[in-house]
Amino acid sequence: MNAASGPRRTSPRADARPCPCGLPAAYGECCGRFHRGQAAPTAEALMRSRFTAFAVEDEAYLLRTWHPTTRPARVEFERGMRWTALEIEDVSGGSPFHTEGTVTFRARYTHRGRPGELREQSRFTRYEGAWVYLDAVVTG
Ligand SMILES: [Zn+2]
Repeated sequence: MNAASGPRRTSPRADARPCPCGLPAAYGECCGRFHRGQAAPTAEALMRSRFTAFAVEDEAYLLRTWHPTTRPARVEFERGMRWTALEIEDVSGGSPFHTEGTVTFRARYTHRGRPGELREQSRFTRYEGAWVYLDAVVTG
């Protein structure tokens, strides 16, 4: 465990902003509560909160929601990279009653001002009861 592994403290101002994941809710009530330590109930909720963690650069959250067998030592945030929108295209499994799930999504970004898009199918599983990210297939 490193010093950055605890739940993130967020500010009231950041909490009141629209959540980067695109749901019509404020960050604090949407993905922010998961970043602060509440367990995401579904694979889709975890997926959204991880997208948001990339957007707000919450490395500790990304690491603790990554399966230990595939988790990198650290997450580097590329300078000039800004995640701008998330669209969930398909979900299978991943409910509170499942142990595995996949989420297919499109994530939009701008990199040094140039727009781009990532389409991916992420696989999620449970680890010690909580949803974690396992791996992904980039679908182009
Ligand atoms: Zn959100």
